[in-house]
Amino acid sequence: MDYISSKNCRYPVFSCEVAIVGSGAAGMCAADELGSLGKDVIVITDHLRGGTSRCAGSDKQTYYKLTTSGKGKDSVKSMAEAIFEGGSTHGDIALTLASNSLYSFYKLVLAGVPFPSNEYGEYVGYKTDHDDSVRATSCGPLTSRYMAEKLEASARRYKNVRFISDAFVFEICKDGSNVNGIAAVSKKNVCKDNPYGVFFVHFSDLVWATGGPSTIYSKTVYPTSQGCSFSPAILAGCRMVNLTESQYGIASTKFRWNLSGSYQQAIPRYVSVNKKGTEHEFLYDYMSEDEVLINTFLKGYQWPFSSDRLSGSSKVDLAVESEILKGRKVYLDYTHNPKTYRFSTLHKEAKQYLINSGANKKTPFERLNAINPKAVKLYKDHRIDLSKDYLEIAVCAQHLNGGFEIDCDGKSTNTDHLYFAGECAGTYGVKRPGGSALLAGQVFAHRASESISHSDGNDSDFKKSITRLNSNLL
Ligand SMILES: Cc1cc2nc3c(=O)[nH]c(=O)nc-3n(C[C@H](O)[C@H](O)[C@H](O)COP(=O)(O)OP(=O)(O)OC[C@H]3O[C@@H](n4cnc5c(N)ncnc54)[C@H](O)[C@@H]3O)c2cc1C
Repeated sequence: MDYISSKNCRYPVFSCEVAIVGSGAAGMCAADELGSLGKDVIVITDHLRGGTSRCAGSDKQTYYKLTTSGKGKDSVKSMAEAIFEGGSTHGDIALTLASNSLYSFYKLVLAGVPFPSNEYGEYVGYKTDHDDSVRATSCGPLTSRYMAEKLEASARRYKNVRFISDAFVFEICKDGSNVNGIAAVSKKNVCKDNPYGVFFVHFSDLVWATGGPSTIYSKTVYPTSQGCSFSPAILAGCRMVNLTESQYGIASTKFRWNLSGSYQQAIPRYVSVNKKGTEHEFLYDYMSEDEVLINTFLKGYQWPFSSDRLSGSSKVDLAVESEILKGRKVYLDYTHNPKTYRFSTLHKEAKQYLINSGANKKTPFERLNAINPKAVKLYKDHRIDLSKDYLEIAVCAQHLNGGFEIDCDGKSTNTDHLYFAGECAGTYGVKRPGGSALLAGQVFAHRASESISHSDGNDSDFKKSITRLNSNLL
């Protein structure tokens, strides 16, 4: 370790070949791969157990990959087309995602992520949002947490991977168009001659994996431990794409959780309450009686708001948002049925689903408990009892679909030695198939690692530039 000194201060400077900022599923994938490739790596993270991957989830958090079971036809090209058709994802990025999807998936399996397989080893898939195939898989509500944790455990096997936790990176340093250092603060570094705990990391390559910009949204289902760290890369001049595109859907707001799957398939009652406390079953103001029930049910697997479904299930999102704009609070009520609920007259898709799940029960709470008791327990663990409490909801931002522009190696398109992986990379597209956000984080962490390990690397330049870094920073 080196030091930079100025006046009465002394700041530590760590050196490594590759610095990774962020310890979510994308950052941990890069750490594991670069570790296995023998690179000298430092991971810097402000919250090792925080961020979206480790702290967010949904009824059935989905990972998207090429089909690995059954006799249905699938191909890299058709998967790439499905991603491309979502809009605002370039064809080369879509093809890269599809081509690398099996590598990334089986790497997760090897790391110990418990994706379900049958007795023959087939990883059976299901249908996800914006996709007609059966490419989706899930290990339950916490898929992304398992991914980050298992990859971290795998990365920690390598002595060449070091971690600096509880450190917030606030600046990316450049020498011309080359990125070569970061500046960070950590309480652990605070001492008399370093009152703010500032330190520097000097490297040949940087993987920026800081996740999404959660704090720019007023209503969001991002976990509170996820901040927004776009500014260092913006100030470093990195080109961005698709900033107008975010994914929204219905989520609970007191405890932030995505209300997809069984939370809607149980057909709860949507209620809004005005300042005087008067309740109103508002969905009936926005659609016909039949639509209320089927659209609520369909929200289960059509969770994100989509302009394609404005005459279908997305009417529910619009109705919720309109009520909130009128100054009312909006809730899901699992204790009473919607006023027109009759099992015998339900739409056949909903009826069949409830029969198959053994959930033809009297109340939404009983149905939810029959379909997915863990969904009930999750809220109970966060002190919300769905058997008696109303659940406050809003249409919330779930992730940004744009971000920093990258090429097929995950490399910034206008800044050298800088790679983006995960949500901060602008690859999710307008209407990505459900689960392809998690896929993209893995694929571009892998591609970045390969690109870094295949690049020549010029050690003497690297050593010389520490001197330039010192003068740039002070
Ligand atoms: C409720 C919810 C449900 C979701 N469901 C799905 C789903 O089913 N399928 C799917 O594909 N996607 C889903 N997503 C999206 C997906 O989970 C995220 O896009 C993905 O987990 C982001 O991973 P990441 O590694 O890029 O970032 P994160 O997991 O957010 O990690 C970012 C890391 O960077 C660190 N960090 C940030 N700034 C700094 C800084 N300045 N200095 C140091 N460290 C920093 C953070 O502490 C954290 O460790 C969902 C998202 C939410 C919110």
